Amino acid sequence: MIARRAIIIKLPKNKCDVDYIRRLMALTNLVYRGYEIWAPDLPKTIQHQLYSFKNYMESLVFGPIPKKWLVSVWVPLKTLRVYPDGSRKGDKSAPVVLDLKGNVIRLRQVCRSEPGYVIELPMPKWVIERVKEGGDVKFAMIGLKNDKPYLALVTEREVESYQSSGYKLVIDVNAWNNGVAYGIINPNSRIAEYSPLRPNLRLIDTWYYKAERLSKELGKLKRLGLSSTLETERLKREINMLRRKVYAHLRDFAQKKAHELVMKAIRLRAEVLIDDMLDESRRELIEEKLPSGLRKIYLAEARKFVKLLVTQLQWYGVPYEFKRLPSTICPICHHELTQLPGRIMVCTNCGFKAPRDKVPIYWVIKISTALHY
Ligand SMILES: [Zn+2]
Repeated sequence: MIARRAIIIKLPKNKCDVDYIRRLMALTNLVYRGYEIWAPDLPKTIQHQLYSFKNYMESLVFGPIPKKWLVSVWVPLKTLRVYPDGSRKGDKSAPVVLDLKGNVIRLRQVCRSEPGYVIELPMPKWVIERVKEGGDVKFAMIGLKNDKPYLALVTEREVESYQSSGYKLVIDVNAWNNGVAYGIINPNSRIAEYSPLRPNLRLIDTWYYKAERLSKELGKLKRLGLSSTLETERLKREINMLRRKVYAHLRDFAQKKAHELVMKAIRLRAEVLIDDMLDESRRELIEEKLPSGLRKIYLAEARKFVKLLVTQLQWYGVPYEFKRLPSTICPICHHELTQLPGRIMVCTNCGFKAPRDKVPIYWVIKISTALHY
């Protein structure tokens, strides 16, 4: 199986012509739709390179074919890789040069429409690590996100999943307010480790409600016709800063925990079972009357966590499976469980008692031991 991972790198805005990149993106959109247009004032080398990507249209690397005229499409670029021992791979005239010997990335004519225009970026540690793991950066993309220029690098490598040692790592994914819970089941069907993972919710709530309060103030000022005073500008900046902090905190948390869990699986050569409970979570969140803005953030970031997790499991060849596991049915006697405060589940029939997110882990034990008999 071919596994892929990607990274995006911010490009220095003062060294990039945003309008030029926007034009290249528009051209890419046309190329992907099957049109052949040659813009006389754009470098021929770059345009040639776009048409040579036509055959990759269906490929996963670049995502689906754009459906709308104005949808922004990142510009696919070929790469030349120069390795520490001096050997080379890829197209000699590629617009993106990954120099692993000099530890720099060189972008040729993709940041400005000017013959011989080159910018250099430091080589990210991420690339060095992926290459050490056997990855190859065959493709890159350039594009704009919120009008800022970025470079995306896609590494790929051929992997085979390992044989599981009999350990199982069960991961329950809920929206971030309840978080992710994981359990390790050893080959003797005992729970060796169990822990819920939750971001700092109090901090997130504080930032979120503060941003909400400030937006209301901003709304009031706007209604009074004061939309571009120093005070409204200050408010806007502060609101944006708070919202960015919420996302950044959740994103960092998700990245760190996904990586830690994958490393745990690799160390134990465990098989991973992912119980994606996000649909139930959404219902729970509505019942809990959480504000819709916060609900959206918690769900969206938890979805990204699942994506990160799967990408890395594939990259390292960890065998994994999505499995829906019950959390409201007793794993001992199949009786309906009753929920107590604090998300504790009890069985009124046999006395079984466990935190709600631990119930699925008992179910995995139940299912796997049933298979043995
Ligand atoms: Zn029971």
